[in-house]
Amino acid sequence: MTEQEIMDYARAEFEWLHAHPELAYEEFETTARLRAAFGHADIRILDVPLQTGLVAAIGTGAKPIVALRTDIDALPVHEETRLPYASQYDGKMHACGHDFHMASVLAAALLLKEREANLIGTVYIVCQPAEEAPGGARTVLDTGVLAEVTAIFGIHARPIYSVGTFGVCTGGMMASVDKFEIIFHGTGTHAAQPDRGCDPIVMAAQFVTAAQSIVARNVSPLRPGVVSVTHINAGTTWNVLPERAWMEGTIRLFDADDRTLVKGRVEALAKGIAAGFGGRAEVSWTAGPPAVVNTERWNALARDAAAQEGFAVVDAVPWMAGEDFAYYQESMESCFAFIGTGLAPENHHPKFMVDPAAIPQTARYLVRMAEEVLKRLK
Ligand SMILES: [Zn+2]
Ligand SMILES: [Zn+2]
Repeated sequence: MTEQEIMDYARAEFEWLHAHPELAYEEFETTARLRAAFGHADIRILDVPLQTGLVAAIGTGAKPIVALRTDIDALPVHEETRLPYASQYDGKMHACGHDFHMASVLAAALLLKEREANLIGTVYIVCQPAEEAPGGARTVLDTGVLAEVTAIFGIHARPIYSVGTFGVCTGGMMASVDKFEIIFHGTGTHAAQPDRGCDPIVMAAQFVTAAQSIVARNVSPLRPGVVSVTHINAGTTWNVLPERAWMEGTIRLFDADDRTLVKGRVEALAKGIAAGFGGRAEVSWTAGPPAVVNTERWNALARDAAAQEGFAVVDAVPWMAGEDFAYYQESMESCFAFIGTGLAPENHHPKFMVDPAAIPQTARYLVRMAEEVLKRLK
């Protein structure tokens, strides 16, 4: 295939993928489509026990091995873009640009396949399920397929930049994610006789206010952080004080020590407030990925590769959202980059959209990056 044919094909695949979004761990059609695309191009698909997603390989099979990663899942969002290739599935949408990641990585794989004879070492193409649900990257890592990979490279569509813009930053680029759930236990009573019970709603209300002091008064003002209570449920009617109040929320930070500190403060405040009011708090946690952190070693190369492909290179504005790409960073070298996909509402918005004009340049960046890194690792 000529480069133009590859880009036209990737563009058509982008539209198909956008029209057929599937949620985390349900990406069966998506996986079949990718499998067929790699199969037609004679790209070897590795035998990996994944229900959805796949890992393909281009090159000699020998080390060094670098990986290009795309996520493949969509979100439970009802699309409102009115694009001609809008989602055909009610309540499901590629609202985070993972369709764009797939099309770009697919085009990169096809370009690399054309140049396979000149490739030093091996490039793995990692099509990862379930980025939006906790665990997709972990699911791939747990198969052991990436054990020999030295470095992995990923991208994310960002609608805050126009097409042709490329951004990385050194240090925290995307935040760690923790979810907390708190139950305040009190004693139910008649609303007219609060003295006969112990009101968990007052405890919950005090906690919501007090929790805002954690970032303001415990985390260094030089480091950003978020503590958000997002969902509260207590009581059943107007004249009864309930037994308990339930809430959940999330913490977003860039620094691992801050993560420990803030979790400790949430627990201490919840339990201390509850005890002070004569009740009790139960706090439980669901840990998401750590922060995505880039190092200057590969950033410098990434900026250079992007500039050579004609991108305007900027210092990326860190994004407080989470990305399970961070799990790969725990065991291999890496660089994660933001790609401008045209100004649009934020990722996860029902009107989020990607300008597919960004695909060819992104694919060429990924190819250059893979080839340059392999040269350096040899
Ligand atoms: Zn997302
Ligand atoms: Zn995403």
